[in-house]
Amino acid sequence: MNSKSSMKYIKLVELYEALDSTTKRLEKTSILAKFLRDMGEEEPKLLPVVTLMSLGRIFPTWSEEEMGLGLKLLMKAIALVVGVKPEDVENMARDAGDMGLAAEKLFKKKKQATLFTMPLTIEKVHSNLVKIADISGKRAQNWKMEILRELFSSASPVEAKYITRTVLEELRVGVGEGTIRDAIAEAFEVEKSVVERAHMLTNDLGMVAEVAKEEGEAGLKKLTLKPGKPVKLMLAQLSPGIKISVEEMGWALCETKYDGIRVQIHRLGDEVNIFTRRLENISNAVPEIIEYIKKLLPASDFIVEGEIIVTRDGKPISFQYILQRVRRKYDIEKMREKVPLKLFLFDVLYYNGPQIDTPFHKRRQILESIVTIKKDKLELSSQVKTTPEDIWKAESLFTESLKAGHEGIMIKDPNAPYMPGIRGKKMLKLKEKPETLDLVIVGGTYGKGKRAHLIGSYLLAVRDENNDFKTLAHAATGMDDQMLAELSEMVEPLIVKKVGRKVEISPSIILEIAYSEIVKSPEYESGYSLRFPVVKRVRGDIGLDDIDTVERVESMFKE
Ligand code: AMP
Repeated sequence: MNSKSSMKYIKLVELYEALDSTTKRLEKTSILAKFLRDMGEEEPKLLPVVTLMSLGRIFPTWSEEEMGLGLKLLMKAIALVVGVKPEDVENMARDAGDMGLAAEKLFKKKKQATLFTMPLTIEKVHSNLVKIADISGKRAQNWKMEILRELFSSASPVEAKYITRTVLEELRVGVGEGTIRDAIAEAFEVEKSVVERAHMLTNDLGMVAEVAKEEGEAGLKKLTLKPGKPVKLMLAQLSPGIKISVEEMGWALCETKYDGIRVQIHRLGDEVNIFTRRLENISNAVPEIIEYIKKLLPASDFIVEGEIIVTRDGKPISFQYILQRVRRKYDIEKMREKVPLKLFLFDVLYYNGPQIDTPFHKRRQILESIVTIKKDKLELSSQVKTTPEDIWKAESLFTESLKAGHEGIMIKDPNAPYMPGIRGKKMLKLKEKPETLDLVIVGGTYGKGKRAHLIGSYLLAVRDENNDFKTLAHAATGMDDQMLAELSEMVEPLIVKKVGRKVEISPSIILEIAYSEIVKSPEYESGYSLRFPVVKRVRGDIGLDDIDTVERVESMFKE
């Protein structure tokens, strides 16, 4: 904002009150559309600011700037201005269930009327709140409170309510990004879908509103992604099964699905920023990732995507650990050693200009050409190309992924563009079922060559209602050499019959089995089978009465 605007803050407050007076989304949209249209006429330079403030925000979600003003300080500022104790503010907020309402009530009771103060302008409220974020250093908290106090001392009760709520980033008028987009479309007579795309690409509703007003649809269509401003992520649907999915795509690029957090990494000149799936900026919390990027991806100006995981001794460990890292504000260096991070990159959205309309297989080539791989630090997602004829490649990637402790696989359409904000059929995920089955070993097959002395594949069974064992699947993956040897040793005395490499085993040893899907199958006595069974562990802690039943498998299949 260059020259001063005299638009009163009460105008915006009246908008909030009007939005709050209806629960109907269409009505909210029209109220907001009218406001934006009028604002566009009267004070066009305020349009970006009020668009953001209609969401109760001063900074977009992805901005690293925050007011950093705690609840205590807010209560203190209110208390000082209305002449009560901070505890009174706290009690009032507890009774009212909302700090904003409490502020309004207290301001109404305020003894000293603010007769000689100038009415607040939108610009004043906005610039003071921006100033609060800018202050850092020793006496920052005092300065922040002073600036807030200045605002409060000119505020009417209802203004105090909304200043309070804006500071808390909770406006409570039932308006989300979707309503604002619809309102922009209605206000400036542009297509909703065009507004939506512009928003997905720029994540800047203020700018979208301004461009919609100034340049209409043509201007919005010209908006595109830029390093520095996060793009809404393309999301994945569940795959009904590898074969069906690959057949539908014609051919597919399948990748290991890592269990960590998705990140979008932006580089603009020397500046690297890392955003989460919710577009929060976590750059400060993950300094080693910034270092890896600067070193191993020296190109300038790009946007890439990947998954950050935590590893211990080269193996991925629980996703829970990563939260200890990304939510952290202090002791970051100490945590760096305790919880080491690794980045797998899998997509590029911007390099030598926007690449989102480039087919995925070409984007992968670009990615490969700009990244230097450094084991245990920064790698590319492992990927296989599959057609319906060599589906086994994807299937073995799936079992390999589970074996290595990852979540499953992603199945990606090689010809698809990057579709921001869309959960479509161009990117699918196939995870291990969270439920495992406890099955008993009833048979096995000896291996060949070097493994001829070990049973490499086990025939597994469930129980039926008569306590008879019914076969369900063969499992051959998930066991390392040591486990294979130990199991063979345990099984040896239980062998009741041997025909060629096949053996019959007396039911006793129970295995916990993970799998991707239960399917109908005439090949097994239970009438069902498992796709991609993987041995998780030997269950020495349960007995034959506790193993899973045909009935459970049947009901899980029906689910
Ligand atoms: P979900 O979180 O279950 O919806 O699964 C989709 C998520 O898998 C993505 O948002 C990523 O965070 C994650 N993911 C892990 N590995 C990959 C990969 N190779 N390609 C794409 N997404 C991946």
